[in-house]
Amino acid sequence: MKLFDAGVSQLALWSDRDAAGEWVVRESRRARRLTVRVLLSGRVEVVVPPRVSARQVQRFVEQHREWIERKRLEVRRHARPPDPFPPQQIELPACGEVWRVHLAGGPGRPRARATAPGLLSLCGTSGGPREMRQALRAWLLERGRVVLGEALASCARELGFEYARVSVRRQRSRWGSCSVRGTISLNCCLLFQRPEVVRYLLIHELAHTRHMNHSRRFWQCVARYCPDYRALDRELLDGWRRVPSWVFGEHP
Ligand SMILES: [Zn+2]
Repeated sequence: MKLFDAGVSQLALWSDRDAAGEWVVRESRRARRLTVRVLLSGRVEVVVPPRVSARQVQRFVEQHREWIERKRLEVRRHARPPDPFPPQQIELPACGEVWRVHLAGGPGRPRARATAPGLLSLCGTSGGPREMRQALRAWLLERGRVVLGEALASCARELGFEYARVSVRRQRSRWGSCSVRGTISLNCCLLFQRPEVVRYLLIHELAHTRHMNHSRRFWQCVARYCPDYRALDRELLDGWRRVPSWVFGEHP
């Protein structure tokens, strides 16, 4: 088996390049027909017989998209036992921060705020884990706005890119995007990734301000500023595993 020549950049035509999960297309000489499976890691593997065109692969995946998405949700739900909640600490490798979570108690709805360097106080006891999760998520989003907003601005300055504005959101399915109007959206879950990976994603989105596609020229642009982009892209596709379960989970 070898990696399908069309590679991941062809997959971008039908699958959102920045979407969650890992997609691999393999050519197998023994395969008689196209098959797809979802592995426990959440990785989607499409096995294709020799001499199948990228277009055929696209069509095949389109036809099975619903099944794939359903399967991936299932796998994601069962993949890993949820981390204990509330977490004792929150690590944000993107900016090298580690926050100890202190349950401060007190009246009112739960809210999270930094009360000392590296100390995140979760105040307020009215409400259960659900409200506490919301408080942590709000804090994470705020931290993302600051950290990622600054990182994007400085990366753009350094490399000579321009963008209209940045928006940071908590999303399940994509790490970033760039609109035709030049708005760059970033996922606050990037905070759980290594700085090198985050930088790659920033460069990826900034490159979209010049190329609104995943063409060869787009990737050349990315490579100019981030030669190691392939490995970093793979790492990012797997990055959902580094996101703690309280960020999306609904369990108690
Ligand atoms: Zn892209």
